[in-house]
Amino acid sequence: MTKRGSEPKCRDIVGLLADYLDGSLDPPTARTLQAHLEGCAPCVAFVNTYKGTIKAARQLKEADIPPELKDRLISFLRQRMP
Ligand SMILES: [Zn+2]
Repeated sequence: MTKRGSEPKCRDIVGLLADYLDGSLDPPTARTLQAHLEGCAPCVAFVNTYKGTIKAARQLKEADIPPELKDRLISFLRQRMP
């Protein structure tokens, strides 16, 4: 079991979630995020919002998301984190 206090904070992992969803995160960190997501409703909500936005943008442009849009989305969602 993981000890309380050593778990990543939501704000710390929001930036990593984008890489996680891109599949560009290293496996150990991805596992940490997965474990966190299992018990964290705000982060699950973030993932769902992020995924939905990326999907909508891809359908519009059929291209990769511009980095600045990704950054803006992350900072927007980060402000809503507890
Ligand atoms: Zn969280």
